[in-house]
Amino acid sequence: MSATSARDPGESPPGQISQVNRPLGDWPRSRELYGRALELLPGGVNSPVRAMRAIGRDPIFIASGYGATIRDVDGNEYVDWVCSWGPLILGHAHPAVLEAVAAAAARGTTFGAPTAGEVELAEAVSERIPSVQMLRMTSSGTEATMSTIRLARAATGRELVLKFSGAYHGHVDGLLAEAGSGLATQGIPASPGVTEAAARATVIVPWNDAEAFGEATERHQLAAILAEPVPANMGLVPAEPGFLELLRERADQTGALLVFDEVISGFRVGRGGAQELYGVLPDLTIMGKIVGGGLPAAAYGGSRELMTRIAPAGDVYQAGTLSGNPVAVAAALATLGRLDGAAYERLAATTDALAQGMRGAALAAGREVQVHSLPGLMTVFFSERPVRNYADAQTCDLDAYGRWCRRLLELGVYPAGRSRRRLRRIKARAASAGARDRGRRSWRPVGHGRPGTNPSMSCCWR
Ligand code: PMP
Repeated sequence: MSATSARDPGESPPGQISQVNRPLGDWPRSRELYGRALELLPGGVNSPVRAMRAIGRDPIFIASGYGATIRDVDGNEYVDWVCSWGPLILGHAHPAVLEAVAAAAARGTTFGAPTAGEVELAEAVSERIPSVQMLRMTSSGTEATMSTIRLARAATGRELVLKFSGAYHGHVDGLLAEAGSGLATQGIPASPGVTEAAARATVIVPWNDAEAFGEATERHQLAAILAEPVPANMGLVPAEPGFLELLRERADQTGALLVFDEVISGFRVGRGGAQELYGVLPDLTIMGKIVGGGLPAAAYGGSRELMTRIAPAGDVYQAGTLSGNPVAVAAALATLGRLDGAAYERLAATTDALAQGMRGAALAAGREVQVHSLPGLMTVFFSERPVRNYADAQTCDLDAYGRWCRRLLELGVYPAGRSRRRLRRIKARAASAGARDRGRRSWRPVGHGRPGTNPSMSCCWR
């Protein structure tokens, strides 16, 4: 049974989160809230992954967070490996972000008119990602993807978009397509409500498969080659050497635009995202998560030539009531301003330590796993074989992964137990080197060892 905090957990002032974890194993307040939520919200949540169905349990309702730690409504604390699925690279409730948000909100939360911060943020992004000479802000990554595809179609006069199986680019109709049985197939709808025409406009190719990719680019006139340059939605499956270069080369040869979806990798795997890390530049970049500093914002951008096609500079229409929202922009500026070289070094070292810890713990437990990591991202694949694409990721032992995640929760680590329809992802994101010890315990087949002190440390502070 979980002990309930005497104080309302939601009322803890920042910095007051206790470092002592309560015994976990029951979540009465979460259960009660979930019961009520099920009556009002589909599946009891506002986004499917939060339901935790992939790891075989009910959702945990969160009351507060500080640094690398979150506390649930039952008073249980966890080292947070998820950090809101990416935006919180500085951890929860960073004082500088809170201060910037409060100051911006006090000046007014939205005007539907331009503000100085939007210009400053565009300058900061462009300085970090030089291929983004101009950008347009949106409120979500999905919106940014949808708008990027519209622009690519307008710029090329073509309709087909190539994406890789296992990649996720938001819930854009045409991208909710699944591959058929061939090597490179035109998509079939992956959700009721997606038209066959929308799905057919997507060509789907296995990741890291140069032959299938080459064949698809020969067979189809593509508007865009769309890739997560660091695919993290099927678990982290980095590009094999030369693969991103091949995407660039074929885009140039065929007149397709190369689009990198850096919603996860942007400002995470390095200051200038995956394109800086790998030295391969796209024509258009989709950004999200960190670019909103923990508030709802995303963006897409590219060369001046392409971006001036967007209205009102050009003829491709795209708009948004809350796009470039001043509070989100303030959070983004405060976040990016703290992501300097030292922060990225620390993030890389932290992730590396966590990944090494996982490998060592698995070895000690006699369990063969594949641990993939890049700065700020980590996946443990429960598989004895290398994982180089979505098909490989699907053959992993998902039940073992679910058990592992449930055990981590009992030990006070909040893991990324995620699942998209028919796409059960096996991924845990590194946020804390301190969590490594708890991760180790979770490999033990028996026993309920409780973590000692919480040496919590998020990506860049505390
Ligand atoms: N692209 C990628 C790579 C993503 O991971 C996501 C969301 N996780 C999106 C796009 C969509 O972003 P949003 O959820 O903000 O719509």
